[in-house]
Amino acid sequence: MPGGTDQTLRPFLWRAEKLYPDTEIVSRTHEGIERYTYSEYADRTAQLAHAMDEVGIGDGERVATFCWNHHRHFETYFAIPTTGRQLHTINPLLPDEHIQFIVQNAEDRIIFVDPSLAEKLAAAHDPEAFESVEQIVVMGSETPDLGMNAVDYESFIDGHDTGYDWPVLDEERPAGMCYTSGTTGKPKGVEYTQQMLWSHTMATMTPQGLGIGDDEVVMPVVPMFHVNAWGMPFSTTAAGAKHVYPGPSPDPEDIAGLIEDEGVTITAGVPTVWLGLQEYMQAGNDVDLSTLDTVIIGGSAAPKAMIEWFDDHGVSVTHAWGMTEMSPIGSVAHLKGGLAEDLTYEEQLERRAKQGLVVPGLEFRVIDDDGNEVPWNGEDFGELHVRGPWVTQEYFKRPEANETDFEGNWLKTGDVVTVDEDGYIQIVDRAKDVIKSGGEWISSVELENAIMAHDDVAEAAVVGVPHERWQERPVAFVVPGKGVDVDTLEQNLREMISEEYPKWWLPDDFIEIDEVPKTATGKFSKKDLREEYAQESLVEGQVPEEAAPDSE
Ligand code: AMP
Repeated sequence: MPGGTDQTLRPFLWRAEKLYPDTEIVSRTHEGIERYTYSEYADRTAQLAHAMDEVGIGDGERVATFCWNHHRHFETYFAIPTTGRQLHTINPLLPDEHIQFIVQNAEDRIIFVDPSLAEKLAAAHDPEAFESVEQIVVMGSETPDLGMNAVDYESFIDGHDTGYDWPVLDEERPAGMCYTSGTTGKPKGVEYTQQMLWSHTMATMTPQGLGIGDDEVVMPVVPMFHVNAWGMPFSTTAAGAKHVYPGPSPDPEDIAGLIEDEGVTITAGVPTVWLGLQEYMQAGNDVDLSTLDTVIIGGSAAPKAMIEWFDDHGVSVTHAWGMTEMSPIGSVAHLKGGLAEDLTYEEQLERRAKQGLVVPGLEFRVIDDDGNEVPWNGEDFGELHVRGPWVTQEYFKRPEANETDFEGNWLKTGDVVTVDEDGYIQIVDRAKDVIKSGGEWISSVELENAIMAHDDVAEAAVVGVPHERWQERPVAFVVPGKGVDVDTLEQNLREMISEEYPKWWLPDDFIEIDEVPKTATGKFSKKDLREEYAQESLVEGQVPEEAAPDSE
């Protein structure tokens, strides 16, 4: 340790408490708006740390959260990793079976759950999968009857000491964890070490990253169960800025109200969220966006029209690309110094709608099918590989995925990109067979397998097609068995999928075909199916031209 103490989260908490004791943390919860300061935040975080000690949760053990964005969830963000435990955020939108797998795989010891999600957790509860879970803590002051060992959060932390002797930790120690849904098989766990979270925080605070200063008011709408809300609870604390948390399932009215009431300057979320705000305002609702400087858009491509719309409202869009495996920020589409003067507005928009410039600290390369690096000419494309301090080197307990998804210390992203002469990365296709709807993954392979398990189905393929609101939606192409009544089959398939999967996994369309087109090696050719669907939809006028698959 030649440079003094390690690169860990502890100093961020210490500095915010000491230097910004009166800066506010505001949170919308099921109980209304809560408001306190970093000073009180530090007290409650210490109390939570003591409460976990009392339950006997050991050093290095995993503690899970099943929550939306609010101050209590934020308290777990420091109390868990800063005591040497591992903060494991679980995505409550996943199918029950995935949740069971995740809890069992991670061997979680406590699960913090929102009251609005408690029923969902209880439905996913399986005694064998949840065997490691000692305690459920419900985020509020009342405990619903869940049939599990549950206590409410306020009673859990009540009476504990407001000081804590936070230990000096090794930077290589796992501090966080988040699962990402893979192409096939079960979700893959990504562990974040203290050092990964530290370096990601430092890089994303810079102007070349997300640009967070101590005078900002930061509201992550991107869920805290989705890669630590892009690390913003950490970077906002490191900066000493004001936090605003929008609470359970915020709708456009909630988001607009918080921007106005709290003077939000930076907010962040997937395109679907901002489309919602746009429609809300277009419906005649007057929203004062005058405090808002920046909207960070990521998770899916920010449409050019959305960037323009925000420009027209005096708000600058920061388009960012990243992955769960990268803690998650990898690139940001800033206009390079000096470039703005040389470009027309339209040319600037082109650059800003790309996935952008790699964040300082990371390296990338783009490799074509022959294993060669492609030139930076904006035309040649290949798979994007990245490496750097906050890029994972392996998946949790998944040796077979480690074999395919990494090459040396390079992470193979599965995103197919071009790079232009100025170094701007642009995603042009996706090598991985998954569908991203409203920022959340749907496994096309899992849906296909479910459909093909039906006796009346000969073959089936599920593809993602462009969608204005959700960016992508699943569509199923089905080859029925001989003599099968197609209408009844579709109805049966819909019922079967609705029983097994969340509502948002149900394909938007079931299309009968004679045969699934195949590639030369006999695999389903999803590209052909997407093209076929685009043509069919255009004939029916369902899909606007600019949303056709080629424009992805
Ligand atoms: P996740 O691990 O859930 O964060 O998903 C990461 C993947 O989402 C990336 O590999 C991309 O395929 C996609 N993605 C993330 N950000 C963007 C973006 N700005 N534009 C297009 N695709 C994106």
